[in-house]
Amino acid sequence: MDGRRIWVVGHRGMVGSAIVRRLVREPVDLLTAPRATLDLTEQQEVRSWVKANRPEVVVLAAAKVGGIAANARYPVDFLYDNLTMQTNVMRAAADAGVQKFLFLGSSCVYPKFADQPIHESALLTGPLEPTNQWYAVAKIAGLKLAEAYRVQHGLDFISAMPTNLYGPGDNYDLESSHVIPALLRKAVEARDAGAETMIVWGSGTPRREFMHVDDLADALVFVLRHYSDAEHINIGSGVDVTIAELAQTVCNVVGCNATLQFDSSRPDGTPRKLMDSGKLSRLGWSSRISLRDGLVDALRHFHTADAA
Ligand code: GDP
Repeated sequence: MDGRRIWVVGHRGMVGSAIVRRLVREPVDLLTAPRATLDLTEQQEVRSWVKANRPEVVVLAAAKVGGIAANARYPVDFLYDNLTMQTNVMRAAADAGVQKFLFLGSSCVYPKFADQPIHESALLTGPLEPTNQWYAVAKIAGLKLAEAYRVQHGLDFISAMPTNLYGPGDNYDLESSHVIPALLRKAVEARDAGAETMIVWGSGTPRREFMHVDDLADALVFVLRHYSDAEHINIGSGVDVTIAELAQTVCNVVGCNATLQFDSSRPDGTPRKLMDSGKLSRLGWSSRISLRDGLVDALRHFHTADAA
């Protein structure tokens, strides 16, 4: 990776921008493509861009993402856009002779009732969680395509599966966001309004593992340097909490005293999602940002984004 031309695809997104922040500290030549000049769903545009800019390493962080409600509402966008973007970028990169390619999946590729913590080998051993199946199917196709390029063309294409992420650049729209940005916004608004209650979707009992996106970016740079295998690799913090515990921690960080009220008309999604990141830790990487510290940082960025 050192001294190479690295293209971070999706550099304006939460994950892509964290990778860029992390890579500026490395001896690499960073490449990014402004969204206005490159539509990743158009194969010819992607091919021309790759030909003109000659990346040597590609990190694919561009994706159509969203929480439990957005997935239910825009199934075509989650399936079609992700399939198209990832296929175009991988094909263009392979045809241009890119040797190292890092594809990013998600913990939702695993079966709904996978044994916990979820090991890499759980992939395709059972039915998916229906609420995010569209996104999951696209991501599974992507990691299989990366594997196929390794098998058929001997290219060093790898895939990493991050756990649930949050941090600067997150989406704070209450209907389409993931749980952490939603709860941060709700807690800030409840605090500022002096509200007595704050609504939390579902029963509060599902368990989720979370990782600050700067922690992920650090892990990805590590993986680019130290991982080369057909099987994908999990990237998690190793800690999971219930949604009720998360909501309480968010309230503590924000300074919101509202009582939590659980709205059972909203879906819980999968009961537990904790990844087994043993493979990554055996390689020598471990998470450094605790949930509480990460939430403090996310809150700081939420206020900055709000003020902008
Ligand atoms: P998931 O991890 O794919 O299920 O996606 P989410 O991050 O959207 O939701 C995680 C869990 O948090 C689910 O059990 C939601 O019901 C719960 N949750 C509680 N309050 C909220 C909220 O305000 N927004 C979202 N998106 N989820 C919430």
